[in-house]
Parts: sequence; C-alpha cells; structure tokens
Amino acid sequence: MKVNDIIIIGAGASGLAAAITAARTNPQACILILEKKDKPARKLLATGNGRCNITNLACPGYRNTLRFFESVGILAREENEGRFYPYTGKASDVVHALLRTAKALGIEILCGAEVTEVSKADNGFSVKLAGGEVHTSRKLLIAAGGKASPQYGTSGDAGRLARSLGHSVTKLAPALTSIDIKGADGTLKGIRVKARVSLYLGDREKSEERLLASELGELQFTETGISGVCVFNLSRLLEIDDNRAFENYEAEIDFAPDMDINTVKELLSERETIEGMTQDEILSGIVDERIAKIIAARAEHEKYAMDTAADFAAGLKAFRLKVASAGGWKAAQCTRGGVPLSEVEPETMESKLCPGLFLSGEVLDYDGPCGGFNLQHAWETGMKAGVKMAK
Ligand SMILES: Cc1cc2nc3c(=O)[nH]c(=O)nc-3n(C[C@H](O)[C@H](O)[C@H](O)COP(=O)(O)OP(=O)(O)OC[C@H]3O[C@@H](n4cnc5c(N)ncnc54)[C@H](O)[C@@H]3O)c2cc1C
Repeated sequence: MKVNDIIIIGAGASGLAAAITAARTNPQACILILEKKDKPARKLLATGNGRCNITNLACPGYRNTLRFFESVGILAREENEGRFYPYTGKASDVVHALLRTAKALGIEILCGAEVTEVSKADNGFSVKLAGGEVHTSRKLLIAAGGKASPQYGTSGDAGRLARSLGHSVTKLAPALTSIDIKGADGTLKGIRVKARVSLYLGDREKSEERLLASELGELQFTETGISGVCVFNLSRLLEIDDNRAFENYEAEIDFAPDMDINTVKELLSERETIEGMTQDEILSGIVDERIAKIIAARAEHEKYAMDTAADFAAGLKAFRLKVASAGGWKAAQCTRGGVPLSEVEPETMESKLCPGLFLSGEVLDYDGPCGGFNLQHAWETGMKAGVKMAK
C-alpha cells in the first residue's frame, strides 16, 4: 500500500493553505487531501456573501496571508473596516487560484472521501473512509473544520477524529449567527436599518442587568428574530447552558444611533407641532411604520413619562427585545469551542499529545468576529502546519 508523506483531512481554507505550503516547502512530498464533499472548498465559495473576506488589517498575520494570495495569483484590496477582499470581489476566483496551484504542485485531492476513523499506525497514521478504503501517511493534518453550516460539509467530524487520537474538545456552540426573539411572528421581517444593537444579561427589574457589548451596523429583521453582521458579532456572547436557556438576555436596539436622547426628544416635540401630523405619524420617516406602531403601543401601555415625545424617544433609542435563542448551526458562520489551543504547538500546530498529528482551522477552539478573522485563522494555522509537516 502506498504510504503518503502527508494526509490532510478537509479541502477547505485551512487544508488547501496547508497543502500548498507543504508542497512548496518540500516539492518531493507526496500529499493527499481527503474531502467529504463532491467538490473541494464548498464553504469558501459562500464566504463574504460570495466575495470572500480573506483577512483583516487588524490581524497580526494579515501581511503574510496577502503574500500567500499574491503567490497564487490573487490580488486583494482593503475595503471598509480593514477587510480585504479579492480585487474581483469573487470567492470563486480565490477557490480557483488555490485549486490551480494545488494541481500544479502535484497535490492529490480525493473528493467524496469522508473520513470516519483515524488511528496511529507504524510510523504514522491510518485513515479510514466511509466506504471502507484505508489510506496511510507519515503525517496527518485534521483540517476538517467545525460544526457551523453543515450544508458545506462540516458537521463536527473533525472534533470527533481529534478526540479519537487523545485530544479534548471544549463545548461547541454556533457563533456568528442570527438571534431568535421571543414572540417574533414575522411581522417585522424584511426591515433593514442602520442601528446600534446592545446585548444585556441579567434581571433588569432587580437592577442586576449588565451590558455585554454594543455593535453598530446594518440590522435585519427576519421571520424569527434579528440578523446582520452586528447581530452575528453579538451572538458570540450568548452563553448556552445545557438547557439551551436564554432567559436573561435582552437585545436593545437604538434606531437613532447618531443622536442623543435629548436631541431625539426635541426633534419629536417639534414634529408634534407640524400641521396635520397625528400622533401616529410622529415617527414616520424615522423608522419603518411597523416599528413605529410597536413603539407607540408600548408607550401607550407603559406611559413612562406621560409625554409623547419623551416616550417615543425612549422607545426609539432603547427598543427592547427578549432573546429566545441563538440561530442554529445551519445559519452559523463559525463554531465556538473545539480542540484547546493549549494542546497544539503555537508555531507549528503540531499536537502536543500525538506526535505527527497536526490540527488547523476551525477544529481548534478559536472564533473571531466577522471581518476576515476566521479565514485568517484558517490560512495562518494551515500554513504553519504545512511548513512543519513537510520538513
Ligand atoms: C456563509 C459563511 C460565510 C463566511 N464568510 C467568511 C468571511 O467572509 N471571512 C471569514 O474570515 N470567515 C468567513 N466564514 C468562516 C470561514 O469560512 C471558516 O471559519 C473557515 O472556512 C474555516 O476553515 P477550515 O479550513 O477550518 O474549515 P472549512 O473551510 O469549513 O473546511 C473543512 C473541510 O473539511 C471537510 N470535511 C469535514 N468533515 C470531513 C470528513 N469527515 N472527511 C473529509 N472531509 C471532511 C468539509 O467538507 C470542508 O470542505 C464564513 C462562514 C460561512 C458558513
């Protein structure tokens, strides 16, 4: 039986970066990538809404990533908030460049090859596929991702495989996902607005509430709750207990983030004097009428200040929603939890528990905010593993 120098499980972001780097480090190395899906890099094609946000200026290793992409023929440019995208704005170009380079370097990619078992063998590893086929290698890289967006091939296999070779896996939870809201009935679906969203935890009535974080950005209302990059980033802070209880979380939306409450109040008071403007219309042109109706109804119910302008201003600046749950795995862009970083060598990604085994990408316990941080982690850890595996 042919013994490969390196087997990589997963032809995603991290696995491809690792394979290319390994082949360049040692052109003689015999490298095999085993990919569960019928085509490589399915998830990469979907990244950044099909545009692939490769990295971010705020990542210490971003220059190295940009150099790597230049070396495979992809020029990237910075857009808003330090985010780098390929010049063409097409994730498919990134995938094409990686696959072209891998092919030119003689890297073999076997698709439809779902790895179900890995074990230590003489001088290396034995890797078994769902069909029963067995492949062997001297070095093994688990780059099979996390559990987020299983439709792209990632359903938690990587963690199970790592565990079978002695690693631990911390609790997994969906991150960078939408947030479901209690009582959402779809009436607000489709509303998109620039807003500040804050996430609170604790009992407000007992004054035990604390602000976890605030994010400014484009907010979208969905059938079941709220979505958008600002919401995705906040979803990383939802702690999920074993009962999936989210009882004490509330989201607060500020629909007028560029004005303080007094300015809003004054503005609304002035609007009250506009000829012909009814109370129902005071918020029109500021927020969607469906939101305006809810603010008016809450003001009517609570009668906080007995002053319409003040009540509406409070509703507009602090529109509260009770969190029901985090959106599920299917909508999540990333996985929280995984193999602890402390179980791998930080410069090579080699396992501290099983020599010759490497782990890279989302299988590790790392999750970053939206903006290119998660792909950066995948490229960077893949490249580090590639260098060491090839030596
Ligand atoms: C819709 C979406 C958009 C995103 N956009 C961005 C973005 O713009 N910027 C950003 O930084 N991050 C983004 N992310 C996150 C980013 O894509 C991931 O963090 C990154 O792809 C992880 O890389 P990886 O190589 O570890 O895993 P993946 O890229 O997920 O690759 C893992 C591969 O392993 C394969 N595999 C799994 N199990 C097995 C098995 N048993 N046998 C063989 N193969 C297996 C999978 O099929 C898959 O191809 C996005 C994620 C999603 C879902």
